[in-house]
Amino acid sequence: MAWMCTFAKSESMDKGLSNFIRSIRLKPVSIDSFTELSENVYVLSFKRLHDFLPGQVVAITTGLSIAPRLYSICSGSEETEISVLFNEKPEGELTPRLAKLKIGDSIMVSAPFGAFLGDNFPAWWIASGTGIAPFRSMIHSGLGKNNTLIHGGRTLDSFYFSAEFEKLYSDRYIRCCSQESGEGVYNGRLTHWLKEQQSLPENTNFYLCGSSEMVVEVRDILLSKGIAFERIMSEIYF
Ligand SMILES: Cc1cc2nc3c(=O)[nH]c(=O)nc-3n(C[C@H](O)[C@H](O)[C@H](O)COP(=O)(O)OP(=O)(O)OC[C@H]3O[C@@H](n4cnc5c(N)ncnc54)[C@H](O)[C@@H]3O)c2cc1C
Repeated sequence: MAWMCTFAKSESMDKGLSNFIRSIRLKPVSIDSFTELSENVYVLSFKRLHDFLPGQVVAITTGLSIAPRLYSICSGSEETEISVLFNEKPEGELTPRLAKLKIGDSIMVSAPFGAFLGDNFPAWWIASGTGIAPFRSMIHSGLGKNNTLIHGGRTLDSFYFSAEFEKLYSDRYIRCCSQESGEGVYNGRLTHWLKEQQSLPENTNFYLCGSSEMVVEVRDILLSKGIAFERIMSEIYF
């Protein structure tokens, strides 16, 4: 099937990003599974047509009239399916359409790309909300077995895939919940949890993924605690 790359321009995007996104080539794929993980949060999967590196993203849209958005792959690099985790933004252009999809429906998807790449160097992985996705991909690809995973969410149902992470990481899996309290969960924002740490590990990289507010605040905290700038890798969801 031929690649296609013609989109209407989205007014909510700046020109540079819009031009970049317009240049991405897309292919139709059929949805093989579609699961609601919690309210307004979904995982959809489709056949993997390309190799990818854990941490990379794909561009997705439902049709050529809507500019594609980027989604981190949350499945492993050797799995036959590519999965993405997304939350529906009620006022958004694309995600309300994605949320209505069913198995067998078609979406347009790019080849994987991106430079937020995991490796086996020791790291702390820090995510807010759906920013957990690339770290799950890294884990499913066999990376980071000795890492620390810190996940921030507003409510207790925002710790997607927590059963997997608890099993693998035990007390190196830290959930920070800002609006609810629960057993084994830090009651507060992940930035508060980080500020409370007396010391941070040396010879460790810090990967940050999620909202710009979280990434900027965490980066400042890490720098103020003596972490070198080049040890901090960021992926901002905008
Ligand atoms: C590298 C990268 C990876 C990403 N990975 C993921 C991922 O794995 N999972 C995930 O869920 N998301 C991810 N995102 C975010 C994703 O690309 C989309 O931005 C998101 O899903 C919203 O898409 P949408 O079309 O529904 O909303 P959009 O239409 O793009 O709108 C986004 C928000 O802005 C508001 N908005 C839109 N237009 C206006 C306006 N004119 N005035 C005021 N407010 C407005 C909307 O209400 C909405 O809340 C990623 C982003 C990047 C850059």
